Amino acid sequence: MYKPEQYLITAGNRIKCKRCQARSSRKKQQCGKPAMRLKNVCDTHGGLSTGPRTPEGIKRLQNAHWKHGNETKEARAERSAKSLHLLILEMLGWYIGMFAKGSTKFRGRKPNGFEKLDLTDPEQLALAISKTQSSK
Ligand SMILES: [Zn+2]
Repeated sequence: MYKPEQYLITAGNRIKCKRCQARSSRKKQQCGKPAMRLKNVCDTHGGLSTGPRTPEGIKRLQNAHWKHGNETKEARAERSAKSLHLLILEMLGWYIGMFAKGSTKFRGRKPNGFEKLDLTDPEQLALAISKTQSSK
């Protein structure tokens, strides 16, 4: 039967402290480090904090790490929506011949929610126009 030693004497017989109660699975020996304050195990054997558990604690941690909010889900969604709005406006501009030939078109990845529209089809043209007006 495994009976771990409760205390550890360190610093040349001067300090008596609680000993880590963890046992090595390989050597079957008790850990030789002192236990962490108010705990029965050392930092190696699970004594460290594993972070907040409650929703309030998680929220408090998120607020503590908040810097400017440029990369929140809301900010990204707003940027993506505006980018989509701009792309549809550009498509309409190209359709009505607003841009000179050889002008630079929208480059790179298309924003979320983008679908290629055939503007010669009146239904899709109306859809594109309505998309430009639905945003704030
Ligand atoms: Zn330990």
